[in-house]
Amino acid sequence: MAEAHPSVLLSGGPLRRVGGALALDFVNTADWHLKDEPVERLHSYADLVAWARGSDAIDAARVRRLLKLAKADAKAADRVLAVARSLREALFQVFLAVSRGEVPEARDLGLVNAWLARMAPRAGLVQEGHRLAWRWPEPETLESVLAPVLWSSGAILTGGDINRLKLCSADGCGWMFLDASRKANRLWCSMEGCGNRAKAQRHYRRTRA
Ligand SMILES: [Zn+2]
Repeated sequence: MAEAHPSVLLSGGPLRRVGGALALDFVNTADWHLKDEPVERLHSYADLVAWARGSDAIDAARVRRLLKLAKADAKAADRVLAVARSLREALFQVFLAVSRGEVPEARDLGLVNAWLARMAPRAGLVQEGHRLAWRWPEPETLESVLAPVLWSSGAILTGGDINRLKLCSADGCGWMFLDASRKANRLWCSMEGCGNRAKAQRHYRRTRA
């Protein structure tokens, strides 16, 4: 957990995956998500593709094809980036509500549903290297990169792991994860980040007292 992908560098820094599910790693592409000014990690369509590759959502051949499509129509690529960000915010609000035992806002769920409906249905399983994968929606478009995120979101929200959905305990962090610890007592998105900061703050308070 919390491993930086060896080869992936978004323009804002290395990719960190702590969510335990693709859709949560996606909502975690905004740092300090609960503060007034979150830090954006997706600055371009290429960032979005790099994120998807680093998160094992797409393979190298798809990366090449998607970047080629983006190069051919830069304006459309920018639009899909904007869609990705607004979809991320809607998903974040839905996950946040569910993690608090609340009913998600119809507006947020509506946006997620609109994009789920736009994606071609998962038409089957295909062998990809050493594992099985969902068959990719055809025809491949710039938006296709969002399909695995949408599928993962649905799987989390309707699956048994939903009870393990948590928000990092650090003030304002806003990163989300599935708590896979045996006692279900994980507090932080990562020990290296928020965990250590909290430990240092506790130590500071103790030594000041
Ligand atoms: Zn955190």
